[in-house]
Amino acid sequence: MIVHGWGNYSKLDSEVFFPDTLEKLKLNLLMTKSLIGRGLGRSYGDSANNKHIIQTSKLKKIINFDKQNGCIECESGVTIYELNELTIKEGWFVPVTPGSSYVTLGGALASDIHGKNHHLEGSFSKHVLYAQLMLANGEIVKISHSKNSDLFNATCGGMGLTGIIYSIKFKLKSISSSNIIQTTIKTKNLEETIEQFKINKKSEYSVAWLDCATSIEKCGRGLLFLGQHQKDNTLTYKKKKVVNYPLNIFSKFLNSYSIKLFNYIYYHKNFKKKKTNILHINDYFYPLDSIDNWYLLYGAKGFIQYQFVIPLEFSINVIKEIFYKIYSFNQVPYLTTIKKFGAKNDNYLSFPMEGITVAFDFKATNKIKNLIESLDEIVVNNKGRVYLTKDTLMKKEVFTKYYENWDKFEKVREKYGAKGKFFSNQSIRLGLK
Ligand SMILES: Cc1cc2nc3c(=O)[nH]c(=O)nc-3n(C[C@H](O)[C@H](O)[C@H](O)COP(=O)(O)OP(=O)(O)OC[C@H]3O[C@@H](n4cnc5c(N)ncnc54)[C@H](O)[C@@H]3O)c2cc1C
Repeated sequence: MIVHGWGNYSKLDSEVFFPDTLEKLKLNLLMTKSLIGRGLGRSYGDSANNKHIIQTSKLKKIINFDKQNGCIECESGVTIYELNELTIKEGWFVPVTPGSSYVTLGGALASDIHGKNHHLEGSFSKHVLYAQLMLANGEIVKISHSKNSDLFNATCGGMGLTGIIYSIKFKLKSISSSNIIQTTIKTKNLEETIEQFKINKKSEYSVAWLDCATSIEKCGRGLLFLGQHQKDNTLTYKKKKVVNYPLNIFSKFLNSYSIKLFNYIYYHKNFKKKKTNILHINDYFYPLDSIDNWYLLYGAKGFIQYQFVIPLEFSINVIKEIFYKIYSFNQVPYLTTIKKFGAKNDNYLSFPMEGITVAFDFKATNKIKNLIESLDEIVVNNKGRVYLTKDTLMKKEVFTKYYENWDKFEKVREKYGAKGKFFSNQSIRLGLK
């Protein structure tokens, strides 16, 4: 079958196995010379692409749910959507969630995902009690912060290159409401947006949308969305209505002019400097999940998401330099978001580090490769890095600068027999075979 990442940029004809038991997983793994694990393919590039794939979407068992203490153990194909359906009404929520609920727990751990609360809660692996990993020889090993910790540090954020994550046990977050109190703050430029993140550093959740389709002086103005769990003892689960538009037809109308107009309206329709409203958890965390396959909006060539992080102290100047570079290439990001990260963790390839992270969505054009190369140069020179789960075009020389522990990662892969067995199109490009 044809597989691709969420950006729909690089596509591949692959043999895909869908094991639904541990025994079948082992059988599929042993009968294939080389392969990569895959969840729902919500990573943007080619990290879950290989000629041979084990897709975990049928490994869906909830192994144990301790409703008293909020601990849950699931097979790795369970999605955050399914988890929310089960746990929210019981007063528990995933400790870290990405901007889509259609990701598997295996994919979440392999990317060591972060949410809008990284500044307070770290990334997903922090909340994991242990995971069970299937190695190249079919053996299952338990990994955690204290058990086989080298393999744990390589697997969390390790993009599937150490083995297949079979199951994960982790701690949930206690909530007493399924609603979020959202405060929206309108900012007039990048300086103010970053200042507002600092002022609101105690807010449980924070993320901002940036207008980057305006004049260079105003670029970086935006809307900061702060979130707090309400405490009103109403725990309801609301199924999200998903609409299915023929988005490839609309893609013709998506261009720099329509984006400028959309951004102008979206920014100015918020009259007030600050406003507060109540939203269901689904509407605060997963607004994009309401539209099925929205990546089709970008047309047949797909799109690239470029997410980088820059240390806080020079973030304003570097982000401005990046805005100028994008302008000089005559490109317009169609969607831009920004968050503040807390401290980094011990995992070899986890993305977050203390600083500011920005994600741009660019429609794939002929200029895109050169633009990304220029942006990488700026990010490398300023001690930042780019997120592997969003990457499509990173070069090996740049990767080894972004991720200084890559050689430790390779030693752990060697030790546990993963080299030569688990690789993806991305890892080949990055020199991890
Ligand atoms: C709309 C949207 C918003 C997003 N927002 C965020 C965000 O806020 N924060 C964030 O951190 N990420 C975000 N992401 C990215 C997403 O969380 C990650 O790419 C996640 O890994 C996708 O999970 P998946 O199950 O689809 O995995 P895939 O895309 O299928 O795989 C991703 C990686 O995990 C590996 N993998 C998957 N399953 C296993 C397994 N069982 N064992 C071993 N390796 C495995 C694959 O080999 C691959 O390297 C977003 C993605 C989308 C589409």
